[in-house]
Amino acid sequence: MPHTNHDLPLPVAELNAVNKVFVTGGGHELKVLENIDLAVRPGELLALLGQSGSGKSTILRCLTGLVEPSSGRVLRNGKPLDGVNPDASIVFQTFALYPWLTVEQNVAVGLMSRTMDRAEKQAAVDRAIEMIGLGNYHAAYPRELSGGMRQRFCMARALVSQPKMLCLDEAFSALDVLTAENLRQELISLWRSPSSGLSSIFMVTHNIEEAVEMANRIVVLFPRPGRIGLVLENNLPYPRDSRDPEFQRLVSIIHETITTLNLPDLPPETAIAGQPISRGRSRMESIPLVPVGQILGLLSMMHDTPELTNIYDISDEIGKEFGETISIVKAAEILDFIETPKQEVRFTELGKKFVSADRKGRHAIFSEQVYKLRLFHIIIALLKEYEEVEEAKIIKDIASALPYDNPEKTFQTMIAWGRYAGLMDFNPKTRMVFVPEEVDASEEARLV
Ligand code: ADP
Ligand code: MG
Repeated sequence: MPHTNHDLPLPVAELNAVNKVFVTGGGHELKVLENIDLAVRPGELLALLGQSGSGKSTILRCLTGLVEPSSGRVLRNGKPLDGVNPDASIVFQTFALYPWLTVEQNVAVGLMSRTMDRAEKQAAVDRAIEMIGLGNYHAAYPRELSGGMRQRFCMARALVSQPKMLCLDEAFSALDVLTAENLRQELISLWRSPSSGLSSIFMVTHNIEEAVEMANRIVVLFPRPGRIGLVLENNLPYPRDSRDPEFQRLVSIIHETITTLNLPDLPPETAIAGQPISRGRSRMESIPLVPVGQILGLLSMMHDTPELTNIYDISDEIGKEFGETISIVKAAEILDFIETPKQEVRFTELGKKFVSADRKGRHAIFSEQVYKLRLFHIIIALLKEYEEVEEAKIIKDIASALPYDNPEKTFQTMIAWGRYAGLMDFNPKTRMVFVPEEVDASEEARLV
């Protein structure tokens, strides 16, 4: 008998060469997904990892039929998907329960589209609530429950229709550490127990350890535009121990892939005779959309607690999501205040000088560093020629220089940095950018 593709089980849901372009509020096109091929196979627990803003939720929405790709195909069981995928249920990050319904009624909402009689519905609801371990709470209202319990009911609601594919979008990230860990473990045991009927899980997360703990296949999404980067099989036996060296090895492979991608790794540059080469000066490079205050916060935290050098520990300390921490670190790095060998974050000489300088000294150093970033010369060059420049003109230039970035947000961040540096200011009434007057001491307080 000839072998055909029919011997392989068809993916539950699949994206083929999917591209997605959004049009931003300002009318610019933002390419969010580029040529995505991704299949959720029967029986697998697939994790999609990526920093925030890389396009994970958009992929989940395309796979489940909530969003239509700009081009490419979405398949369900090998056939083109039409509308919302009836095989999928989604659990979101926030606990989206209707406050006016009891939790039992909320779970029943998951069956609304099904044709079942009352008794069948009731049995399915009871079963889902039992499965998720909340048998005593049928009649409670969401407000009476903790965040962890509410998220459990969201899972019950997603499971009640016995979906072929359960989709989780950062479903654990709003829970406290212990609750999240419990719920992850329970979900893994449900998925592993044949009687649960739960087959494929597609989870989106920015948490590397969570992906390594749960998934048997991990796909890392590269940002701007979202592209499939690394794909890893994870055959570690369950239950997984995060202290296991193999577990840690996977975490660091993924971690390194993500950070080397996010932190600027710059191409070789042509040396200018007699001048030291500094990084990232000659090519147009985007800037992380991070307020100045967060950069200063990171630097003073590093100054106050020099023992904190690991990027994970720093992330915990400042209480930000890992992806956000990376952005702050990247911002400080392109300003040459810190360097990031491997998972370490260290001050440069300039960074040390900056944190120990007084306010005036800091502005001066910051100004010099901002001046070195090519992107800012879009504005600086215009301000040399004109007293003031329209916001719209600058945004247009940013959009053509950095086609994968959001030009409005980049503009706002540039103004914030440029203002702290004393290089530029913006009048929101006239929508004009201008060169500020010499800053006197009394005004300076306003800038910080
Ligand atoms: P993630 O889930 O990885 O954080 P998203 O898929 O939510 O990323 O978003 C990816 C990018 O697409 C972001 O820059 C976001 O601002 C943009 N985006 C998402 N949805 C829309 C939309 N409806 N309109 C315009 N831009 C969007
Ligand atoms: Mg998201």
